[in-house]
Amino acid sequence: MATMDDQAEVLVVGAGPVGLCAAYNLTRHGVRVRLVDRATGPATTSRALATHARSLEVYDQMGVLEALLAAGRKVEHFSVHQGGRCLVRFDTDYSRLPTRFPFTLMIDQAITERVLREALAGLGVPIEWEVALESFTQDDTGVRTTLRHADGRTETVETGWLVGCDGGKSTVRKLLGLPLIGDSTETWLIADAVVDTDLPGDSIHLLHAGTGSVMLVPFPEPGKFRLLDTVDTDHADLADEVARRFAGKISRVLGKPVEVSTPSWVSVFTIQQRMVPSMRVDRVLVAGDAAHVHSPASGQGMNTGIQDAYNLAWKLAMVVRGTAGPGLLDSYGAERVPIGKALLGSTRKATLLVALQNRAMALGLPVGTAVLRGLAPLKRFVERRIMGAMSGLALTYRDTPLRVDGRPVGRVPVGTRISVVDATGAAAPGWQALLAELREPRWRLLVVPREGDATPAAIARAHPDLAVRTVTVDGATPAPGGPLPLADPDGRLRAALGLAPGDWQLVRPDGYLAATGSGLTGAEFDQLLSSLLCRPAGVDRPSDETALENA
Ligand SMILES: Cc1cc2nc3c(=O)[nH]c(=O)nc-3n(C[C@H](O)[C@H](O)[C@H](O)COP(=O)(O)OP(=O)(O)OC[C@H]3O[C@@H](n4cnc5c(N)ncnc54)[C@H](O)[C@@H]3O)c2cc1C
Repeated sequence: MATMDDQAEVLVVGAGPVGLCAAYNLTRHGVRVRLVDRATGPATTSRALATHARSLEVYDQMGVLEALLAAGRKVEHFSVHQGGRCLVRFDTDYSRLPTRFPFTLMIDQAITERVLREALAGLGVPIEWEVALESFTQDDTGVRTTLRHADGRTETVETGWLVGCDGGKSTVRKLLGLPLIGDSTETWLIADAVVDTDLPGDSIHLLHAGTGSVMLVPFPEPGKFRLLDTVDTDHADLADEVARRFAGKISRVLGKPVEVSTPSWVSVFTIQQRMVPSMRVDRVLVAGDAAHVHSPASGQGMNTGIQDAYNLAWKLAMVVRGTAGPGLLDSYGAERVPIGKALLGSTRKATLLVALQNRAMALGLPVGTAVLRGLAPLKRFVERRIMGAMSGLALTYRDTPLRVDGRPVGRVPVGTRISVVDATGAAAPGWQALLAELREPRWRLLVVPREGDATPAAIARAHPDLAVRTVTVDGATPAPGGPLPLADPDGRLRAALGLAPGDWQLVRPDGYLAATGSGLTGAEFDQLLSSLLCRPAGVDRPSDETALENA
């Protein structure tokens, strides 16, 4: 029997990392969410290990970072071994992409999911296990979803929106008729085991073993590694045989005996490189593996999915609240589909590099790495390229429809994340204040006020949902209804952002710059919000089509 669900505004399907992230962030933005998963409980098998810098910045904004950092291991190197020696050790170079997290955090996906589940529970949102989405229909008014419970009972839920975070075999994606375009490439064997070796635990190790290679990715637990074999995939059901084979290969490449314990998990998987051409059909959206599947070679799948969910949550929340029209949601796919496409290219290259099955490439390895060792600038260039592609920091929304090209001011271009600061710089009081501001789920306008300029106060009064932050020297107490001061006593925040008196930056809830300029009037600001498909207080929402044309 159909029941009208007058509680949930959004149904999120799938309580993997992406569904958890979507549900948590929607809830933080004030949306009533229902989260269902057909599994009997949380996944126990390990998959994602690598969490990259941009995801860590996002976790900081979400308020879940500390628990994750405490449970993970920092990895800062990538070492290539052949013929009994380490040919090259790449370091990480974030000099062009400053971040407070210049490393990859190795943390078991099961722990990441646990931290996200706890955060969600803290907001009072339960996860409904053993509840599977079977089908749905949608029209202008909402989505009617049929759910099947563990006892066989079916339930029809009515919500305004449906978000499919139901993984690579997504039922939501299939029911939408969205094709997953791409191909399957290599088949690899994977095993998690303790390796008796003196290889440093702060590096990933690529061992070239004649044909193909073996990769060792450290877990947080001392001595435990994820082992990947890019060639021999048979006998995956015989864990001891898999351990023996890995021990033999690793010993041969390192030139000394190495023991491998019986793996706690062995799996064979075929690498899929596929994605959907669009992430939204009217009131139904897809995120994470439901929208794109990548090679695990550079650890991108979960990282990308988390950022999909983070991108989507604030937009969907605005649409649900009526402070933006549904057209805002088109920017979700417009921003995330190109990122998925770019990743298919970079993860394909990473897969080829890890597999090293090309004989010429393998033969050239000692020479190529010797050149890199001898030419420090070239090595640093490669290190920067690797980190740029893997860390997620170089990804921008510069081509988004959600940008307004006013007068460019400051050092951070529109479409780029604003938290461009390393750990040392972040100690400045101004940065501390801005980073704290970024943890709040809201839009904010940063203004360096001019002497006697009343505009920031007028905008703050006219837009109570918007945090207008005046970047000031003294951080004076705000007047009632006036802008919130963001104290920058030593001026290091203004200097790092390159802001002069009168300059302003409009920062999206996800921390990316939407617009910048200098000197702003209240009317210009209203026009700006309209162009960004957001409805300023007291002004009718523009039709989505008109607003998109204007954007
Ligand atoms: C070996 C391996 C190593 C990897 N390493 C990394 C790495 O280092 N870094 C990285 O970023 N990524 C990595 N990945 C990828 C990462 O694991 C995935 O990208 C991630 O799990 C995707 O999360 P998700 O929430 O989109 O989907 P999933 O984790 O697949 O979760 C989907 C959820 O939806 C539920 N569900 C499915 N259908 C329904 C339905 N009809 N109704 C209700 N619920 C449903 C499922 O039960 C499941 O809980 C790796 C993957 C593999 C296989």
